Amino acid sequence: MQRFIRHALIVAGAAALSGCGALHSARMWFPSASGMDQITATLYVEPTMSAEQRRDLQHQIELGRAQAEAFYGSIITAPYFVTCVTTQCSVRFGSYGEPATAFGDMAIRLTLNGRLTQLVAHEWSHAELYRRAGGWRHIGQIPRWFDEGVAVVVANEALHSPANWQEIARRSLPTPPLTELVSRRDWAAAARQYVETRRDDPSNLRVVYSTAGHEVRAFVACTGSAGVGAVLDAVQAGESFGAAYARVGRECAH
Ligand SMILES: [Zn+2]
Repeated sequence: MQRFIRHALIVAGAAALSGCGALHSARMWFPSASGMDQITATLYVEPTMSAEQRRDLQHQIELGRAQAEAFYGSIITAPYFVTCVTTQCSVRFGSYGEPATAFGDMAIRLTLNGRLTQLVAHEWSHAELYRRAGGWRHIGQIPRWFDEGVAVVVANEALHSPANWQEIARRSLPTPPLTELVSRRDWAAAARQYVETRRDDPSNLRVVYSTAGHEVRAFVACTGSAGVGAVLDAVQAGESFGAAYARVGRECAH
């Protein structure tokens, strides 16, 4: 029962993230009953996925996991993956255009595309951070910019690289202040305001994710990835995020 309540809370959180109805996301908890093929204990795929695609997917998941492990030092979550080939399948499992979503530390929805390793690393970072912050009791205290910024640093995608940040500065593009990227609702509103929703447009420099990545990259440059763990431990122990982030950043600067 407790597991069910936990699932329900995670589904509600994911629904709040995307603004979608919880009904579609609820299919994430019953992937077999929703028509997916189960190929390992933690991997469900759309039945039309070819044998070669399935092998490649498993390889990319391993690479993405290794990338997250290199950052966090260990992996303490074992989310299962629900992977779609078609847009129709992604929509059935709650996507509103985003290629991947983490559901707490329990599950990750993916859609096949050309940057799977980075997507897995990014979403697995969300799962690890969720668990390391203390799960649903504490995750609400972590500002969205920190959660996304850590995922950006872990995934290390060219889309959000330091060079991309320099280009944003060179073009003098407006960027959101961190104070406007605190809640999931803030994040979704900023993505709309800064037109970050045009995912495949090469002129979209993704200023929202890049702002979060830039902030956390500077923090991690000083503290190392251990600084992220120190902040999450402190939040789980009851310190406020703001106090913990400032303290860990200060301790490293001296
Ligand atoms: Zn993310």
